[in-house]
Amino acid sequence: MPLPNVDTIAAVASAQGRGGVGVIRVSGSDIEVLIRKILGKLPSARHASYSNFLDENGDIIDQGIALYFPAPHSYTGENVLELQGHGGPAVLQMLLQRCLDLGARLAQPGEFTRRAFLNGKLDLAQAESVADLIEANSTEAARSAMRSLLGEFSTSVHTLVDELIHLRMLVEAMLDFPEEEAAVDDIERRHMLLNNLRLELQHTLETAKQGSLLCQGAQVVIAGQPNVGKSSLLNRLAGEEVALVSTIPGTTRDVIRQSIQIRGVPMHIMDTAGLRVSGDEIENMGIALTHQTLRRADLILLLLDASQGMTVQDKAIVEDLPADIPRLLVLNKTDLLLGNTPDLQGIEKSVGVSAKTGEGIEELRSKLLEAVGWRDQEGGVFIARERHLRSLAQAQIHLTQASTILTQAELFAEELRLAQHALNEITGEFTSDDLLGEIFSRFCIGK
Ligand code: GDP
Repeated sequence: MPLPNVDTIAAVASAQGRGGVGVIRVSGSDIEVLIRKILGKLPSARHASYSNFLDENGDIIDQGIALYFPAPHSYTGENVLELQGHGGPAVLQMLLQRCLDLGARLAQPGEFTRRAFLNGKLDLAQAESVADLIEANSTEAARSAMRSLLGEFSTSVHTLVDELIHLRMLVEAMLDFPEEEAAVDDIERRHMLLNNLRLELQHTLETAKQGSLLCQGAQVVIAGQPNVGKSSLLNRLAGEEVALVSTIPGTTRDVIRQSIQIRGVPMHIMDTAGLRVSGDEIENMGIALTHQTLRRADLILLLLDASQGMTVQDKAIVEDLPADIPRLLVLNKTDLLLGNTPDLQGIEKSVGVSAKTGEGIEELRSKLLEAVGWRDQEGGVFIARERHLRSLAQAQIHLTQASTILTQAELFAEELRLAQHALNEITGEFTSDDLLGEIFSRFCIGK
């Protein structure tokens, strides 16, 4: 199918600042005139051609490599030109301006990838993984973004959709013969196929959750009485001085946020104002903020002073914590115990650490990973986003609903249809322009 006629977009594709090489990217239906004017020739397709890059008077702006990818064999699926010149901001700006003077317009963030998606070069989950790969801050995140880009996630979604279609066909064929009662065999077959589907969906959801954790990380809040060592623990975990440490209770009045990585999983750790009733108005505002932060956390790390055990004040804090958020109990200052065991009446599971000496910190890191739901997956994970998790969960709801109405063919078929619709949203078969706009606007320009 010929691609629709689209205007020409151009952008600097390399990072801002100075570098050895700078890249300008141009894409559109009709870029031959532009190419001839800048290069003085049309280079062979998909060959690196050393060339002058010319201004409107034929003077040389820069020299470098020109790459011409005629449609459809290009990143966007359109005609694409890439100019690799010297990576200085002024020279790149001159080259970009030259493209704009020749009729191109400045590309929006993510517009090249959006065109690649619209031209069927990649599906939506793959397009998102392009941004995730660029954003990745750890080897693990980069690897799993690459897995998604290669289509691992999309393939599992497509497999689910294919199986769903198969089951739908089976049921919908029955609908054409309403007078015929579904045989027991048919119902059993439905039951079996649906169960397999639900198991596979569950597996995909589990893997996607891990991918989402790698991509977005977990929000961990450190809560506890003033002076138990919250700031010191945050510093110890972060490996640098971020929170102010002092011996005067109530030093931390704002929420301090520090992102660390544990085996590649980002943890956004927040140190909070100590939880205690105070006469100080500003401190009370800090405490109110703490409560707000706590309600949004994925995990609460409740810190106690090991030398004090669980005090009455600690108990009051525990009672005040949101009940539905998982907690990890950590006993700090184990160095003060000097071999004594802390008084832990009523405490079952906890990790002992010393923010001062570093004792127990490695165990705490492992426990943190476990507590936010990280599992070392065999075969690795693919990167996924909140949006994907929502769609997978939605599909799961419909399949669960379907399992309760196996004999009511019409309603059963409708639940399957809705489940399929939810899955198709992941790969972008039915996607509103608004959603596309939101997804691609978060990309960088030139990608
Ligand atoms: P926060 O108010 O809970 O943030 O507590 P800070 O991190 O400001 O620490 C309060 C005091 O306890 C400071 O004097 C720290 O040096 C001290 N402290 C923190 N962690 C430890 C620890 O593991 N062992 C010992 N001995 N002192 C600690």
